[in-house]
Amino acid sequence: MAGLPEPVQNLINAFERLPGIGPKTASRLTFFLLRGKDDLPEKLSAALAALRSATRLCSICFNITLAEQEKCEICTDSRREESIICVVEEPLDVLMLERTGIFNGRYHVLHGVLSPIEGIGPDDIRIRQLVERVKGGQIKEVILATNPSMEGDATALYIRQQLADSNIRITRLARGLPVGSDLEYADQNTLLRALSGRQEM
Ligand SMILES: [Zn+2]
Repeated sequence: MAGLPEPVQNLINAFERLPGIGPKTASRLTFFLLRGKDDLPEKLSAALAALRSATRLCSICFNITLAEQEKCEICTDSRREESIICVVEEPLDVLMLERTGIFNGRYHVLHGVLSPIEGIGPDDIRIRQLVERVKGGQIKEVILATNPSMEGDATALYIRQQLADSNIRITRLARGLPVGSDLEYADQNTLLRALSGRQEM
């Protein structure tokens, strides 16, 4: 059986590496792009090329920001409370919490959670940078907003231990969030309750 032309097969292979995309969907997407008469392939190609080259991580909170900015908009906004840091797993969590509109502090994005099974240790996520940030600044409270999963809990516990000798308030989001669920899928009201009902840890 003759195979597909290489350019077609290459795109199918690339799509298949994305999370949640199997061989069937990868083929369907590829042929959709191939047969279309619009400029979607060019648009996609330009967006993909800029995805990493035009962005960077904020030097303070590690949220995603524009490549030409050293600090993100939240870190440079003087109206936001500098002494409260909300620690989240992923940049998407920042987006979700920002949508609730009730948090007026700053963030710290870990870019993952501790996971011995996957071989992810403290040095693989931004924990050390958080500890340095807390020790170096005028921080009064750290809200640990990692997901209510086994890994999220373990990560929160580890961070609390690391910050044990700093004289600050350490809180954890209230259990309004269903266990095992991701922050990014929680609705606004649930997030509001979780944040306003946060407890000492
Ligand atoms: Zn920032």
